[in-house]
Amino acid sequence: MGLLQIFDPSAKPTPVGIDLGTTNSLVAWVSDGEPTSILDCDDDPIVPSVVAFLPDGQTIVGKEALAYLYSQPSETIVSVKRYMGRGHNDAETARERGYHFAPMREGQANVVRFVVHGREVTPVEVSSLILKELKRRAEEKLGSVSGAVITVPAYFDDAQRQATKDAARLAGLEVLRLVNEPTAAALAYGIGTQRTRGTYAVYDLGGGTFDITVLSLDDGVFQVRSTGGDSQLGGDDMDRAVALAMLAQAGETEPFSQANWRAAMIEARRVKHELTDRPASTFALSLGQREFAHELTREAFDALILPVVERTGPACRRALKDAGIKPAELDGVVLVGGSTRVPLVRAYVKKLFEHEPLTDIDPDQVVALGAAVQADILGGTQQNDALIVDVLPLSLGVETMGGIVEKIIARNSTIPCARAQQFTTYADGQTGFDIHVVQGERELARDCRSLARFTLRGLKAQTAGAARLMVTFRVDENAMLTVSAKDEATGLEQSVEVVPSYGLSDEDVEQMLMDSYEHAEEDLKLRQLTERIVEAEQVISATHKALDKDGDLLDEDERAELDGALRALADSIASRDSEGIRLRTEALDRASVPLAERRMNRAMREAMKGRTVESVEGDVAHARGVDAHVSDHAQRRES
Ligand code: ADP
Ligand code: MG
Repeated sequence: MGLLQIFDPSAKPTPVGIDLGTTNSLVAWVSDGEPTSILDCDDDPIVPSVVAFLPDGQTIVGKEALAYLYSQPSETIVSVKRYMGRGHNDAETARERGYHFAPMREGQANVVRFVVHGREVTPVEVSSLILKELKRRAEEKLGSVSGAVITVPAYFDDAQRQATKDAARLAGLEVLRLVNEPTAAALAYGIGTQRTRGTYAVYDLGGGTFDITVLSLDDGVFQVRSTGGDSQLGGDDMDRAVALAMLAQAGETEPFSQANWRAAMIEARRVKHELTDRPASTFALSLGQREFAHELTREAFDALILPVVERTGPACRRALKDAGIKPAELDGVVLVGGSTRVPLVRAYVKKLFEHEPLTDIDPDQVVALGAAVQADILGGTQQNDALIVDVLPLSLGVETMGGIVEKIIARNSTIPCARAQQFTTYADGQTGFDIHVVQGERELARDCRSLARFTLRGLKAQTAGAARLMVTFRVDENAMLTVSAKDEATGLEQSVEVVPSYGLSDEDVEQMLMDSYEHAEEDLKLRQLTERIVEAEQVISATHKALDKDGDLLDEDERAELDGALRALADSIASRDSEGIRLRTEALDRASVPLAERRMNRAMREAMKGRTVESVEGDVAHARGVDAHVSDHAQRRES
């Protein structure tokens, strides 16, 4: 444990913006009107979204966790964002290799659970560890954090948004709002604050995901006009293409050894980054006994990655079509994601959208910076309250007879919004309504995502079709849904805030909070520190007493050494350095051995002069610094 910093109590807690990315995460704030990322000690704003779970229960987040990817791949979780709000049966879960997943048990929420060293952790917990690390970084810089705007992909559904909020809660962060990533990127460019209208395409190519969004801004109000993309496309595919080509060049044939493949992927990424700023680079690899080196020009690299880049085209064209807009009608194109630094990507985007893309802001940081701008607006330090409106990515409806879905709020509706629809009974004498809330575009309920079920009971028995039930869907600014149902005849009403069945219930989250591993660890550390301080203070006090009484038994050097050990231990206590306290307590014990021995002899000699055994025992104990209390007691009795 390091120094505890004492902060100026008059300093106001600061709102922050967080980009919780699949590959990388960042936290930013607004400093004197300028959005700024918070840097680590290497001046790097990026925290890799990687969490390593160690056998002893420790967790490691970010850059340091990357090292464990090779030594314990199944216990080092990457791309956890892909599992947020996902259930056991989600296709993506089944496809994933490497990790161990816990089987679903009776009565448990339907969420993915990773098994790490015999312990089960949910994606929400893993994400909360990343958020905690970002919060810690922010607090180190800002003192205290008042709340966070967290970004999510525009296509995130209710369960995924809820899971993100749960993770924040678990990390002890108040969510000011969830904001769509493309909207945040636009805000960073002053779209929405300095500019008040226009239509923009936001092209986001990250490590393993590609998102395209068309946004329009009207009188400072944002609307997502369309979204699209590919959840399995990104910079990793470029690395793969380069690694494959280089191994082939080296005469290696598939299947490659795991070690060769890993090394090639790491080298491919390094070369890719270098080629962003240079016309050529050298790919170098040791393959068992031999070394392989090959020059890779930007041109050759471009040819290798062109198929990857071109895979973004269809989704872009579809998004433009869905939004009903032609490239020339766009007011701008915003680049987001580390992979848009690649020159070929920039050229491709320019051609596709017929616009020079906006690139002034670092594409790695643009989402976090925009989130910080929004946090600053919501945090109340700014007058200009830019309103952000998003649209619902998927339709919401209820299941009706025959398993057919009746859509209540259509996809792409502007949120926040509310819509009501009337339903009636199907059978004579029906006294209850079973309401099944679903999300998705398909016609049959079984093909949509089930969000919630509830029953309205106690209706008046009537003939079929006579009852009137009003079902209202309300979606708030975070795209969270509340459903209520009211029987017009009896006035009976019931409502649920939708806790998606592919998510964690409030109780689950509560339980996780209680079990919070991190807290347990912190609590343990604090207890250990307190115990060590108490013990150290006892030893110091006993030593001072011994010195007061028998200090004359030491020579100058011995005395100096003991004084030094006392000072060092006092320093460790002052800085609450737990390990330092332990070591220096031991050191003080060692340094006081000569004094203790000589005091013991002196006490024995005194005893020979006919004092009571009891008092000698007391003095001996005192001399050894074992129990000052017994010693005091004995002396008092003597006098
Ligand atoms: P995500 O949004 O998925 O969390 P990022 O936006 O941080 O991911 O993008 C990560 C990707 O960007 C990685 O594939 C990385 O190799 C790539 N990248 C980062 N810097 C560069 C660069 N200078 N040149 C090319 N690619 C880069
Ligand atoms: Mg991103």
